[in-house]
Amino acid sequence: MRLTVIGTGYLGAVHAACMADIGHDVLGVDVDAEKVADLAEGRPPFYEPGFEEVLTRALDSGRLRFSTDLREAAAHGEVHFICVGTPQQAGSPAADLRYVDAVVDGLAPHLSAPCLLVGKSTVPVGTTARLTERIARLTPPGVRATVAWNPEFLREGFAVEDTLRPDRIVVGVRDADADETLRRVYAPMLAADTPYIVTDPNTAELVKSAANSFLATKISFINAMAEICDAADADVVTLADALGHDTRIGRRFLNAGVGFGGGCLPKDIRAFTARARELGVGPAVAFLDQVDEINQRQRSRTVTLARRLLDGDLTGRRVTVLGATFKPDSDDVRDSPALAVAAELHRQGAQVRVHDPEGAAKAGLAHPELRCSADLLTACRGAELVLHLTEWGQYRELDPVKLSRVVRTPLLIDGRNALPHDAWRAAGWTVKALGRPAPPPERRGATATAAGQRRRTIIASPAAPGPEASAVPVGAGSVGS
Ligand code: NAD
Repeated sequence: MRLTVIGTGYLGAVHAACMADIGHDVLGVDVDAEKVADLAEGRPPFYEPGFEEVLTRALDSGRLRFSTDLREAAAHGEVHFICVGTPQQAGSPAADLRYVDAVVDGLAPHLSAPCLLVGKSTVPVGTTARLTERIARLTPPGVRATVAWNPEFLREGFAVEDTLRPDRIVVGVRDADADETLRRVYAPMLAADTPYIVTDPNTAELVKSAANSFLATKISFINAMAEICDAADADVVTLADALGHDTRIGRRFLNAGVGFGGGCLPKDIRAFTARARELGVGPAVAFLDQVDEINQRQRSRTVTLARRLLDGDLTGRRVTVLGATFKPDSDDVRDSPALAVAAELHRQGAQVRVHDPEGAAKAGLAHPELRCSADLLTACRGAELVLHLTEWGQYRELDPVKLSRVVRTPLLIDGRNALPHDAWRAAGWTVKALGRPAPPPERRGATATAAGQRRRTIIASPAAPGPEASAVPVGAGSVGS
């Protein structure tokens, strides 16, 4: 099928390449000429595992091209996917739909044959209906352009896998033709028995808002429990493990820490509350304001903890932040909790160095006041405090003994509750984390093995890994799409 994908960012570029990979003839379109040139040359403009391979394969097949020209898109596509950004409006919690509207306005006058516009961007409920009216006014007489919504659930870090093997496909359509067209687009996924949910556009749009609200709520719930644990001298990781055994609750997204961020969850829950208020049902989702507040509070709690550990004054103190991206396996630093904490530590006078294996360049652009580097030892040298704020796998592999020789003071805040604390303590580190009590005195000098062993014999069962093991992120708290 001849598809266009308009907006080739994290979502659209992966969608375009994967659609070509499954056999469609795809034109990717973006207003960013540099991004288009990079993609056309097979250079991914962002870090996403597996993307470069699928992009190269698709370009080599001759089924994938890129352009900045919406006229070319209008001429090419029988289906046009809208994948542009829907950020938060400045000064309002609502979504800014100007880019979505610009696509419709730019494409419609050039259409000359019947086609289907399929939104994948995350939008407020009612957008399909609004765009249906808008496009009807703008298309040349006699040309029928239908609008449908097909929300995207991919997760950065797993974007290629999630696009090629999604856990479900949701389509919001008004007629059987649109359904039929989308079934042809996604034929290989349907052949693989992927659940395919056909509904009206309003419900489809709501599925995405509801899914992100649920995930955000689960993360903020466990972070609220971490605050209680701190006040009551209890352990949030053991609490989460115990809760997680209840299959109605589940262990995923119950990792307490510095909270969620990224280009989706925070702005999506705010846009949802704004839209609910417009619909006169604001109180139904007023709890999401608290979810947002709890989430923001983990950032300030982390800064407060850092200041307290450094004797109440950050001025001139050398602090290293491990991680800049909002989640591991991505270079996306949009609304990153790690960077927000790093920037606040800097604002309060600390000399902050930030390490990230893939996101250092973007972090440096977003926060020129921070010293960002992809070299771990340089970033850690002379540190009086290390904060682990994005759970990259390589941080779990760190040798705490070696690192203790590089820093000035072996003092760690594990803002993701994801490092093996017993091993770090055995290497001489003082380890602090939100929602975790200080270890009992008899464990402080224990060896890593002995301490870990003792813990596991107390609480583990074959189905329940010990707290350190289960802290390994299983769709961790920093996620979001
Ligand atoms: P992004 O900022 O990476 O990409 C958006 C792209 O749209 C940019 O390349 C931009 O140049 C382009 N663009 C803007 N206006 C345009 C126009 N008029 N014509 C053509 N291109 C235009 O954003 P993203 O992360 O890819 O997110 C896009 C949408 O998908 C958002 O609504 C987001 O909420 C949703 N989403 C994102 C993810 C994710 O993991 N990133 C997952 C699910 C849903």
